[in-house]
Amino acid sequence: MSRFNPQVQEGTDQSKETHVHNHHQMSEQPGQATDPVCGMEVDPKKAAAAGLTAEHEGKTYYFCGRGCKLEFSDDPARYLDPSYHPSM
Ligand SMILES: [Zn+2]
Repeated sequence: MSRFNPQVQEGTDQSKETHVHNHHQMSEQPGQATDPVCGMEVDPKKAAAAGLTAEHEGKTYYFCGRGCKLEFSDDPARYLDPSYHPSM
């Protein structure tokens, strides 16, 4: 015969709900922009600091380098065409 005691008081102290996750800030970068010419991820702040931005129809685009910016400025529509696939 088995006797188990339902009144075991063991473990009432260890409430697992005190295990609170402190959301420490992850260094994710939601502000990444994509270079429309080559498809590279660009840090908008760095691009802006380096002057590697171009405005087109009220939107600002960011580039990895001068070459991409010039190409874009040359023919923005080409790079904004959904059928254009960025390539390095
Ligand atoms: Zn680029």
